[in-house]
Amino acid sequence: MVSPLDILHDTFGFPAFRGVQEDVIGRVMDGCHTLAVMPTGAGKSLCYQVPALAREGTAIVISPLIALMHDQIRSADAFGIRAASLTSADSDADRQQTLQRLKAGELDLLYVAPERASSGHFRELASRIKLSLVAVDEAHCVSEWGHDFRPDYRLLRPLLDSFGNVPRLALTATADRQTRADILVQLGIPEDGLIVAGFDRPNIRYHIRPRDGVSTQLKGLLAEQEGAGIVYVPSRDKAERLAEQLGQNGRRRVLPYHAGLDPQVRVRNQAAFVKSEDMVMVATIAFGMGIDKPDVRFVAHAGLPKSIEAYYQETGRAGRDGDPAEAWLFWGAEDFSRARRRIETEVPDDRRGGERQRLNSLAALVETADCRRAILLHHFGEDPPARCGNCDNCLAPPSTVDGTETARKLLSAAFRTEMRFGLGHLTDVLAGRDTDKVLNFGHNRLSVFGIATEDELALVKPVARALMARDALRADDFGGLSFGPGARPVLKGEEEVRIVLAPKKSGRRRRGGDAAD
Ligand code: ADP
Ligand code: ZN
Repeated sequence: MVSPLDILHDTFGFPAFRGVQEDVIGRVMDGCHTLAVMPTGAGKSLCYQVPALAREGTAIVISPLIALMHDQIRSADAFGIRAASLTSADSDADRQQTLQRLKAGELDLLYVAPERASSGHFRELASRIKLSLVAVDEAHCVSEWGHDFRPDYRLLRPLLDSFGNVPRLALTATADRQTRADILVQLGIPEDGLIVAGFDRPNIRYHIRPRDGVSTQLKGLLAEQEGAGIVYVPSRDKAERLAEQLGQNGRRRVLPYHAGLDPQVRVRNQAAFVKSEDMVMVATIAFGMGIDKPDVRFVAHAGLPKSIEAYYQETGRAGRDGDPAEAWLFWGAEDFSRARRRIETEVPDDRRGGERQRLNSLAALVETADCRRAILLHHFGEDPPARCGNCDNCLAPPSTVDGTETARKLLSAAFRTEMRFGLGHLTDVLAGRDTDKVLNFGHNRLSVFGIATEDELALVKPVARALMARDALRADDFGGLSFGPGARPVLKGEEEVRIVLAPKKSGRRRRGGDAAD
């Protein structure tokens, strides 16, 4: 038998394994079931490709996206590995050929989508060939705790169990503790089969701040930030609009990317980006998966990402070459209101708890005055130092003020006005302004009329933002504010509302520059 190291040298031409690859491959070679949690770019594919070549038989690789499979097959081809897929996108002729090669033992890797892999028909087919291992890529899809649950993954267990002695290798880049534990249970992997690579990306500098005229904020960023970058936006519409606005000065190329673009345009824009040294892609999250561009210098989010996992993965596309890179996030209270509304109206009951928790974790990340990296790494189950020295809060510790009293007054004002008015009106009430609206509703006669001091009034906006982020206040479609479950602990004095004061000027501080941004 050829050793994994020989294969690494001879087939891939790499001098050494990276990080946990050696441990993962070692376990698979020993026939043990394993869950490898490795960040994007850490080299997950190699973890099944090498044992697939070193062990006798064919490796089945379960993968959720046809586009990803095709990327993988192309790169396997490039290394002279015999790989094919069975998907709904293949022609009958292709499928016949793949089946023939499979039966003749001429395939090292067979990529299959989960819905096919879980069928009885496929199980029967697989029982007739020699298997080297079964790899389950994007394994977080098996967990309802994960951010990307796919019911088809749940149906894989019978297939896995029918080859009890074939090693299974689950792989994912994104799994918090709970999701990890769930993957182990769902896929029948023992607890000691969990291998987690370090998640820290020390060369990425994190900056997170409230949105305040985002196109101006981004223009400022682009004016100072060199190199190629990605700006993530929440919708196709915004991708088009922002790309145009940001491209106006013509200093560098700015192109949009989203799933609604003509496929040819998409391919063209992506190719231009990969080649370019200073292009900016304004994109929805449709952009990024499977794109091999190590020298992306910055990733900016113009809106809240879906989860900490998504944030980590998306920002992780910056600086894969190891050189300094920046991650920027501009968030708004309305991002949270929208996400909360979605959870309450569109998410099935049994998954609501998990989604709320995920959003609360994001709120903690954006609201904190502490180290961003520490929060991220904690989330991924690591035990990082309290300060990293390479995020906005470490570089320029922000001042904070206690906004609890203001928060209580704002909540009372919402309550006394029957929880249907927006922030502007509530501020008028707290300030004691007798506007027409205040007088019409008789709000000048309420006990909360005029109870806020000047200092408190200055805090109303950031306090409202913080209350919305932690689901103490919820906005309806018209901006009317009402209580969420987070309101009680604040009103009862059980929870403090600490406000991070905005840095004096927005935009980007130069690396190594003056810390008083
Ligand atoms: P992931 O799936 O974890 O995001 P990939 O499997 O796509 O990462 O690997 C990322 C890149 O690193 C690929 O270009 C791959 O060829 C390269 N790579 C993986 N392992 C090694 C290694 N041991 N030495 C050098 N390069 C490696
Ligand atoms: Zn830090």
